[in-house]
Amino acid sequence: MPEKLISSVFRKEVLNLSAYKVAEAKNLIKLDAMENPYTWPNEIKQQWFKEIKDCPINRYPDPEARQLAKTIKDTNNIPPQSEILLGNGSDEIIQLLLMALPANATVLAPSPGFVMYKQVALSLGLNYQDIPLQADSFELDLPLMLDAINRTQPLVIFLAYPNNPTSNLFNVLDIKKIIDIAPGLVIVDEAYAPFADASFINKLPEHENLLVMRTVSKLGLAGLRLGFIAGNKAIIEQLNKIRLPYNINCLTQATTDFALRNQALFDQQTQQICRDRLLVLNQLNELPSITAYPSAANFILFKTKKNQANFIFESLKDHGILIKNMSPQGGILSDCLRVTIGKPEENKIFLRAMKAIINSSDS
Ligand code: PMP
Repeated sequence: MPEKLISSVFRKEVLNLSAYKVAEAKNLIKLDAMENPYTWPNEIKQQWFKEIKDCPINRYPDPEARQLAKTIKDTNNIPPQSEILLGNGSDEIIQLLLMALPANATVLAPSPGFVMYKQVALSLGLNYQDIPLQADSFELDLPLMLDAINRTQPLVIFLAYPNNPTSNLFNVLDIKKIIDIAPGLVIVDEAYAPFADASFINKLPEHENLLVMRTVSKLGLAGLRLGFIAGNKAIIEQLNKIRLPYNINCLTQATTDFALRNQALFDQQTQQICRDRLLVLNQLNELPSITAYPSAANFILFKTKKNQANFIFESLKDHGILIKNMSPQGGILSDCLRVTIGKPEENKIFLRAMKAIINSSDS
């Protein structure tokens, strides 16, 4: 192994990181990654094929993705004073944003939260502050947050709204307070907006340091990799300088634009997912020793009996179902698992397996 070469070439932050792991899902019912389980009806697919048939893939894509940007602004009610920047998934936007910070900057986010904030911050050698959520409610611990903000002066604060993996919407007044005292940018990450009846988009004109980030991944287009961030024009202009010119490929531009013009289809799918979310929540809570938490997203976090999470996670795999084991992250996620809402028949298989596993472990 070229150890000497590696340690002399790469920064120590990179050497110390582990790669983001995605579990193998072959032949399993996939309820681990907050994807929309539904595809498109055949007639919509035929229309889509027609739209992309003439995509000039021999040419570079429109570097500004103008047509798509316009459709996104219209369909997401972006205020006219605000501008947007598109990314190859919101993951890329997180990276791009943090790449723009000074070398010694601090990034702050509540914990547990979306892992990529920390992963990217650490990979860039930035300081990262995890601030624990309240254990019982998963609400922001406002005094703790305000104190940490005053002490560490973070240049970027991420607040996922709803939060992943706890699936709740933080108190709006707490978020406003944080935006007001933050010395830098506050990114309200609305990845799960399609399942939550709440947004900060209309607040953008009120706060110059507020940015709202969204993705089409959870809406049913995860394979296209398209996210966007909206905010003050002058701030977006700075971010645009480090965006690679052709970061949104032409098939993604054309397909997302087509999909967003067929919004009614997604509305049907997200409404179905929200209805099924309630069924799964109630049925999980009927199982002995399981506490499932209410969700404003397309997944449910639930707690098992002490030290049972790994066993339940592995047993579900034996039943052909992949969910996400949060327990290894420790803290308030100890003994917790996260399941994405699937199609009704997938949810049924999951719930049936849960019942069988818990009954067998109790007997
Ligand atoms: N933000 C949150 C809160 C997420 O949970 C995720 C994905 N799990 C993302 C952003 C990244 O989404 P994308 O697919 O757009 O990169």
